Amino acid sequence: PVTLRGLAKSFGPKQVLKAVDLHIPAGQFVAVVGKSGCGKSTLLRLIVGLEQATAGRVLIDAEEGRPSGARIMFQEPRLLPWARVRGNVEVGLDRSLATSERRLKAQDALAEVGLDDRGDEWPAVLSGGQKQRVALARALAGHPRLLALDEPLGALDALTRIGMQRLIESVWQQQGFTAVLVTHDVAEAIALADRILVIDEGRIAADLPIDAPRPRHRGDPALAALEGRI
Ligand code: ATP
Ligand code: MG
Repeated sequence: PVTLRGLAKSFGPKQVLKAVDLHIPAGQFVAVVGKSGCGKSTLLRLIVGLEQATAGRVLIDAEEGRPSGARIMFQEPRLLPWARVRGNVEVGLDRSLATSERRLKAQDALAEVGLDDRGDEWPAVLSGGQKQRVALARALAGHPRLLALDEPLGALDALTRIGMQRLIESVWQQQGFTAVLVTHDVAEAIALADRILVIDEGRIAADLPIDAPRPRHRGDPALAALEGRI
């Protein structure tokens, strides 16, 4: 579970987040939407410990401070160009593991994203979608309890995006981590999330549950009313 208590963040005089309170039960898939600049990325960075709060607390599994079980994925894959695909996935693993174990775990993670035969290649030869799969494998390799996704599919073409949505949903269903996905794509939020948070003026302006069964699509009558609100 993730708990935010009175979480606030300012950059100089600019108050980006104002006392955000939130509880995300373990295994829930939450989507975060809101206008550009409203603080979505800042919220994710605070949750995974990449940013220090001005006030308030972030608790992951009741653990405060930089959470070891949290991983984040960005719009750009951020792969190391000088490491092969396998090496890039190993970056996501605990450094104290034996080399052979790191290899095995990286190979498993690559298999989960359908790239088990690409471990020896350089990132530069992969397509944009394949690079994002490697980034997903790196994030999943250590079996995180929390996966934060900051518009991970924003730069992909529509077909690749749908494939990645299915992949993210299937690994989430298999592994049971808590997911927090920032997206500008309402259909994507509806397709993937159990719950949608709308951020506005530094606060959670709406917290909307989605109870429709999976798989979901945009035209689903159960979701039409919701779509008008986000
Ligand atoms: P987008 O949808 O465009 O990605 P966002 O909702 O993710 O936007 P953030 O990146 O969280 O927005 O930024 C929120 C606000 O905080 C913006 O006004 C931004 O300029 C400001 N901000 C973010 N990071 C910093 C920083 N390191 N220093 C100063 N201001 C920052
Ligand atoms: Mg952002």
